[in-house]
Amino acid sequence: MNVLDLARPEIRALAGYASARSEAGRARFMLNANESPWSPNVRGASGLNRYPEPQPALLVARLAELYGVAPECLLATRGSDEAIDLLLRVFCRPGGDAALICPPTFGMYAVAAAVQSVAVREAPLGADWLPDAGRILSACTPRVRLVFLCSPNNPTGGLWPLARIRTLARALADRAVVVVDEAYLEFAGTPSAASLLAKQANVAVLRTLSKAWGMAGARVGCLIARPEVVALCRRVMAPYPLPAPSVKLAVAALADPAATAARVATLVAERERLAARLALLPGVEEVLPSQANFLCVRFIDAEHVRRALAVRGILVRDVSAQPRLEGCLRISVGAPVENARLVAALAESGVAA
Ligand SMILES: *Cc1c(COP(=O)(O)O)cnc(C)c1O
Repeated sequence: MNVLDLARPEIRALAGYASARSEAGRARFMLNANESPWSPNVRGASGLNRYPEPQPALLVARLAELYGVAPECLLATRGSDEAIDLLLRVFCRPGGDAALICPPTFGMYAVAAAVQSVAVREAPLGADWLPDAGRILSACTPRVRLVFLCSPNNPTGGLWPLARIRTLARALADRAVVVVDEAYLEFAGTPSAASLLAKQANVAVLRTLSKAWGMAGARVGCLIARPEVVALCRRVMAPYPLPAPSVKLAVAALADPAATAARVATLVAERERLAARLALLPGVEEVLPSQANFLCVRFIDAEHVRRALAVRGILVRDVSAQPRLEGCLRISVGAPVENARLVAALAESGVAA
């Protein structure tokens, strides 16, 4: 079976929009896209009068090299949030098909599914805070087209071993696409599920420059999948998703992987130190084991802690409304000075008393 058999028939039949920029290369006079002949009179805006490349070749080449995949397996997207949306629109018919999530997990899967009128089925994380293959398989009705696995998982931080993802993808071959969201994989330092693609066509991987690469404001991410899946997603994608200045800055940042690796190493060391410190505080019930750049911490009185931190100018994320996360706050690991301030603020607020 071809993985495209899982896609919506109406999308497979769609020709897609042929944009002016994809029609032809550069010419001396570009009078085919109704652009202005002039860039704005702003520094750094030269060339901004032209539409950007739909899939900037240099960025795609650099991302493909970074993630160790062929360029035709990679679709550059406006953050990985766009890739989540594209997959839902390509594979799930509104009002009929379903997507499966493993709560507690990243909220965008359910929101993007709801926007597309796609039902959401749930296979809650197991007692070890990791996805439970048995639960996933039994929740996978024939209407489920996408299974979202977030690894490391936001907001709990656990990493699902690659061998288990492989086993699940095999079990779901011809039934559903396993989408592995690796937004935080750099902080785990383990191999990507992209390596499964050679043998498993029903795998899709999401990566982003928003976290480890420090470029959340640039909105650059990607989908890694079989070329036919990439081609189908391009058909539903907006014609010019990536702003030229973002592409330029992303290419420049990608030229210095050593800087990113050093920052990731610092954050990982800080994560371990902070987890150990927090676990000792009497107001802390539990620090979930994290392979990401945040910690999910259960407090005896989370609302008191959240307010005490807020009045000291420290924002953390309240995740206590999610299943099994009563009393939990998600705390991003910051620079060493920020983490020290956090610990001091907790002491002042009586959590460490
Ligand atoms: C932050 C995050 C993303 C990234 O989103 P972008 O759109 O690339 O900024 C994706 N998935 C998860 C689980 C995240 O936490």
